[in-house]
Amino acid sequence: MSTIKYQLSESELPDAWYNIQADLPKPLPAVLHPGTKQPIGPADLAPLFPDALIEQEVSTERWIAIPEEVRDIYRQWRPTPLYRARRLEQALDTPAKIYYKYEGVSPSGSHKPNTAVPQAFYNKQAGVKRLATETGAGQWGSSLAFAGALFGLEVLVYMVKVSFNQKPYRRALMETYGARVVASPSEETAAGRSILADHPDSTGSLGIAISEAVEVAAQDPETKYALGSVLNHVLLHQTVIGLESQKQLEMAGDRPDVIVACTGGGSNFAGIAFPFLGEQLRGGAPVRIVAVEPAACPTLTRGKYAYDFGDTAHLTPLVKMHTLGSTFVPEGIHAGGLRYHGMGPLVSHVVDLGLVEPVSKHQLACFEAGALFARTEGILPAPEATHAVRGTIDEALRCKREGRSEVILTNLCGHGHFDLQAYMDYKAGILRDHEFSAKEVAMALAGLPSVE
Ligand SMILES: *Cc1c(COP(=O)(O)O)cnc(C)c1O
Repeated sequence: MSTIKYQLSESELPDAWYNIQADLPKPLPAVLHPGTKQPIGPADLAPLFPDALIEQEVSTERWIAIPEEVRDIYRQWRPTPLYRARRLEQALDTPAKIYYKYEGVSPSGSHKPNTAVPQAFYNKQAGVKRLATETGAGQWGSSLAFAGALFGLEVLVYMVKVSFNQKPYRRALMETYGARVVASPSEETAAGRSILADHPDSTGSLGIAISEAVEVAAQDPETKYALGSVLNHVLLHQTVIGLESQKQLEMAGDRPDVIVACTGGGSNFAGIAFPFLGEQLRGGAPVRIVAVEPAACPTLTRGKYAYDFGDTAHLTPLVKMHTLGSTFVPEGIHAGGLRYHGMGPLVSHVVDLGLVEPVSKHQLACFEAGALFARTEGILPAPEATHAVRGTIDEALRCKREGRSEVILTNLCGHGHFDLQAYMDYKAGILRDHEFSAKEVAMALAGLPSVE
């Protein structure tokens, strides 16, 4: 069976990012100051981010030009390929057409450099010397370390302790790019010390690592903070994925009936889905959009849409998002990038407006899907990406039951070459599904800040 691949030329690399804030039927709820509970202004964010990124965070312009310096770097691996998954279709015996956009061709193996590069660029332009950040499984940390190396910025990464110990190869990659990697919670920050005082054995969480990185950036004028997901400007940068996919599906003579992507903080999901959703909001053809999250960290399907902190030590502003509570420490599932208590406010907003359907999947079913994808399409999906694959296969099987030849588009957001331990555990039969109990949900949500 011949491979069907849609490859754009370099000249077709997008020259602007798409900002869905221009097309929302209802604007995003305001971000609030944690003390006054009043809407914050750009000045409140200035200690953490350069002005250019703060402007993008609040912009309602539909198109935001991609700087030439950033496009030059994107060109190393972009435009990324779009494939038709014909061997997977055949294995499933489905009448559906499955297309996947492959972001694993970037230097760090995922979609994350799409935002790491512009974030490093704007920080360098603003005279920043060092970036502080957090990382879970290490995909974001390695992407920012790569981007920092290109622009001559120091990078300090607080890595969730369980991953620091279990994923030494990602750590080695970050250090090779020149970053300093610290296991979180650490003794280096007040936030880390306070967690360790109460829980000396804490294995960490993204919420704790964010607190450490934010604290360092807030206290050092030469250091700014960088986040790999959740924020509006991060989701904006990822829209190159969907913009390219639109042109590639046009080459294929198709338009998607369903788009499926996994959601941790929502950036790869927004990246592929928002340009299509934007067309729908401007009166174009409707498309079903499915957000797939892990059953062990079911933010969109079982969390509450409410104001909450982005971090555990409550240093960040309050944002309205689906949340499991900022002190929630999810089970140690292998999809480290999906273990975040909150969600990108833009993703939560479109879910709340009924424009997106969230679903949750268990990790065993996801690894089964990932292994089938590897055997049919040859690419080993990252544990996070197996959630998108599972969701895609389930849609394709529905099409088979209903006898419908729908067009399914998914985002294969990263490869799993650094996650082979996860596949070994899956093969050895030692992975477990974690059911999230109603009691856990209630406990985690009991501590939500009151806003009214
Ligand atoms: C970080 C990461 C995710 C989760 O983050 P989103 O912002 O939800 O995309 C998913 N997949 C991969 C491969 C990642 O590196």
